[in-house]
Amino acid sequence: MECSKCDREAVMHAAYSGSHLCGEHFRRSVERRVRRRIREDGLVPDGATPEEPDRWLIGLSGGKDSVVLTQILSETFSEDPRIELLALTIHEGIDGYRDESLSASQDLTEQLGIRHEVVHYEEEFDVRMDDVAEKDPLGMSPCAYCGVFRRDLLEKYAAELDADKLLTGHNLDDEAQTAMMNVLEGDVRQIAKHFDASLGPFDERTSLDVDDRQRREKQETFVPRAKPLRDVPEKEVALYAHLRELPAHITECPHANEAYRGEIQSLLQELEENHPGTRHSILSGYEELASLAAERYGGAGGDRVELSECERCGSSTSGDVCRKCRLLEAVEGV
Ligand code: SF4
Ligand code: ZN
Repeated sequence: MECSKCDREAVMHAAYSGSHLCGEHFRRSVERRVRRRIREDGLVPDGATPEEPDRWLIGLSGGKDSVVLTQILSETFSEDPRIELLALTIHEGIDGYRDESLSASQDLTEQLGIRHEVVHYEEEFDVRMDDVAEKDPLGMSPCAYCGVFRRDLLEKYAAELDADKLLTGHNLDDEAQTAMMNVLEGDVRQIAKHFDASLGPFDERTSLDVDDRQRREKQETFVPRAKPLRDVPEKEVALYAHLRELPAHITECPHANEAYRGEIQSLLQELEENHPGTRHSILSGYEELASLAAERYGGAGGDRVELSECERCGSSTSGDVCRKCRLLEAVEGV
């Protein structure tokens, strides 16, 4: 098959757009979508200057998504002194898995000249995911613990490193799955929070301008999130990493078993095959719904939830002790 834009051989076919693209045009098309998303989300603030750059912390796991994100951001902004990039890798304590992706992250940040920080669950919380997964004191999926710990560290270090934004490599498939899961769970406040924390243009996210003293105080440590890869399907992210020979680590985590997400993933794959474009339409419809939900419920935390400080660690929570501290208590001594 020939490329739809030139006479070279196509390396991919996108059923949702009908185009066949050669390596060069495919690469440009991925980069264009990421840059458009950055523009449409208003990520580069008007006030950013070379003297006072906007500092973006990238959550870099070393997997294909975050590696591709880091590469494209670096190429887009390396000559733009208004934006400062740094990367954070979290080591969960998963033998043979995270060590390899950590070295992929080190190679990449070294090549690109980006400051790179590494934090470990073991040093921060005195736990390793291998032990948590083995003992599993609460009978949950390992990812249910791991996700809470990771979010806590991302937020903590984004604030500590004085980041203005926290960027993650979620792709179109990840986001369409999350959207479906949130809709099927029927929790509209959760949908509002999702929008507020990570989707849509910054000036539409409600938490950024809510006139509420309590929330404003909380915002001093609240670093908004962005997901510039969310228009690019997972397979295309993988192909991009492969064609450019980026140092991405591709093995799956040995503890990955989010059963419900897996079901949704198969469902979406089938729908996408039969009705190309389904993931895109789910996500764009969901973003609009989520923005309406955020207007109604006031976004992060919801306007009817009183937030207080966790008795143990000080992070904001709707109860006395935050979820992370409760999970840590359960796994103590594991
Ligand atoms: Fe943690 Fe689950 Fe990701 Fe493994 S797959 S790193 S356990 S969240
Ligand atoms: Zn806590």
